[in-house]
Amino acid sequence: MSESTTKTNLLGMSPEKLGDFFETIGEKRFRSTQVLKWIHQFGVDNFDDMTNISKVLRQKLTDAAEIREPEVIMQKTSKDGTRKWVIKTEGGSSVEMVLIPDGDRRTLCVSSQVGCSLDCSFCSTGKQGFNRNLTAAEIIGQLRIAIKSYGPFDPSGDRRVSNVVLMGMGEPLMNFNNVVDAIKLMMEDNAYGLSKRRVTLSTAGVVPAIDKLGEETDVSLAVSLHAPNDELRNQLVPVNQRYPISELIDACNRYLSKLSDKRVITIEYTLMAGVNDQPEHARQLVKLLRKLPSKLNLIPFNPFPNSGYERPSDEAIDTFKQIMVRGGVLTTVRRTRGDDVDAACGQLVGQVEDRTRRSAKYIALQDVTPGASAAE
Ligand code: SAH
Repeated sequence: MSESTTKTNLLGMSPEKLGDFFETIGEKRFRSTQVLKWIHQFGVDNFDDMTNISKVLRQKLTDAAEIREPEVIMQKTSKDGTRKWVIKTEGGSSVEMVLIPDGDRRTLCVSSQVGCSLDCSFCSTGKQGFNRNLTAAEIIGQLRIAIKSYGPFDPSGDRRVSNVVLMGMGEPLMNFNNVVDAIKLMMEDNAYGLSKRRVTLSTAGVVPAIDKLGEETDVSLAVSLHAPNDELRNQLVPVNQRYPISELIDACNRYLSKLSDKRVITIEYTLMAGVNDQPEHARQLVKLLRKLPSKLNLIPFNPFPNSGYERPSDEAIDTFKQIMVRGGVLTTVRRTRGDDVDAACGQLVGQVEDRTRRSAKYIALQDVTPGASAAE
């Protein structure tokens, strides 16, 4: 709800921040763990329902704090079982999230910003312009809402959401602090307890923020490459003008080298007919990916009105894939899911109010320092 309140919303607080909050109200840090579990493992919204906490503390919390989840304004289910939610955010805009069931896997694709500032030429979210960063509560709230939709809250039972991908609306690394807080909650044992291999952050390539991410977490990383050379990538993914491919590959290698286990970077490559889907592009990509432990996920372009791009034929997709496979690159083609409810990659638009607050180009090229929030 948009009623103004002076209470602190505990929903998006990382375990550390919740501990800090407890200190500010004169409580011991360790007491925050119980509250963390109530919020994230049992889905409780009222402190009075936290029955193993003393009445005095419950009252103190009720006076100072609240647990406020974003409001769901629409929910649609696709013929293939993909579910899409439209979530109202503070300030009147909305964002979308998508749950993709696939056998035992249930992957939730969450949004990190209202709109996006990076202006990739083929992405409908980018065409919406940029409004603001989601709060950590609005990001983790998406996971909480998806899990609760299965009925009684029990994230540790059968994993209702087994994987999270930060591949919805927005560029997660342009909303660094809030995204990191939300990721910490996703991976925290006393909250959602998802393993680092089951949480994936996808970035268009904000190089300094990739380095900073490696200092904060060991989440899995996906990179939206979409072109095998700078000339083409500059046009499709304008942030490349600031951080060219070679710097991006170096940052990815630095990220992998910090991890304690052996993992690879997922490279996303949206195939657009006649733009980046030619055999020559595939051959260049094979060479490029020799420099990075990676696997390739090809995404056939999902059309939207006036995009100016087309999806390649199945034959062209297959030819591209075969060149990659012969070149030794582990390659999958992403199945299109949920397109009948506009839930496929690049089709998430939400409702971006006041999209002119900051010029997209300005943010894309000037304001990509990690931690600096593009808009409060
Ligand atoms: N900003 C981040 C997170 C968005 S992820 C990033 O760029 O990685 C969404 C993925 O879908 C990205 O790889 C994006 O490039 C891709 N995508 C965007 N529009 C698309 C479209 N119309 N069809 C297919 N894939 C698209």
